[in-house]
Amino acid sequence: MKLIIFGPPGSGKGTYSMRLRERYGLEKISTGDIFREEIKRGTDLGKKIENYLKEGKLVPDEIVIEVVKRKLEGLDNFILDGYPRTVEQAKVLDKIAKIDAIIKINAHKEILVEKISARRICSNPKCDGNYNIANIKKTIEGVEYILPPLLPKNDMKCDKCGSPLIQRDDDKPEVIEERLKVYEQQSKPVIEYYIKKGSVPFIEVWMNRPPEEVVENIVNAIEKLKVHFLNRNP
Ligand code: AMP
Repeated sequence: MKLIIFGPPGSGKGTYSMRLRERYGLEKISTGDIFREEIKRGTDLGKKIENYLKEGKLVPDEIVIEVVKRKLEGLDNFILDGYPRTVEQAKVLDKIAKIDAIIKINAHKEILVEKISARRICSNPKCDGNYNIANIKKTIEGVEYILPPLLPKNDMKCDKCGSPLIQRDDDKPEVIEERLKVYEQQSKPVIEYYIKKGSVPFIEVWMNRPPEEVVENIVNAIEKLKVHFLNRNP
């Protein structure tokens, strides 16, 4: 199964795709995670892209495409998180893989800002611990959000490895605004590209409930679409 998970920064893509990886044995490919890892390790690629991430800007297509091409080689089961973010990236993906479905996550900007500002990650580069200190209960334009916090058991220490929790550099307020703006401007055409193409089904969900509920909705939709996948990939 080949999936894309698509949504604005802070919409829970990382969390949902981690759970879908476990559920379906998918390889999770997150370009953001790959880039952060390269930066932490101080590689040549890391040095080249560091400033784009710091400023919340998109890494140039030629760099992203090269990385994704290498990662996808020979993979049949994967979920792409954070790629494609431009039409050019989507066109390249068309040439290398037949995507079965796009999971599109919707959320209001106000909620995203609150959620991103409250995200805390483990400071241990080898650990993927991820938490959120916001407790959101509100309704916007008819969408009722009930998003309880995801707190560590011990005072701001990671449950998995005990390291202190920190805020991601690009989760700071000035950068959040820029990332949301970039999403609005550059990523919407990607959705339009797939709508026009017409051959990839969309699974649309709102990020308005705790991850287990949102993931259950996604899983139900995937199960319904599976007949379609089987016909395409006998
Ligand atoms: P994310 O963790 O997906 O929010 O990505 C963090 C940052 O990595 C983004 O703000 C971009 O600077 C960069 N990035 C990740 N994926 C891409 C992509 N497909 N194209 C361009 N830049 C990307």
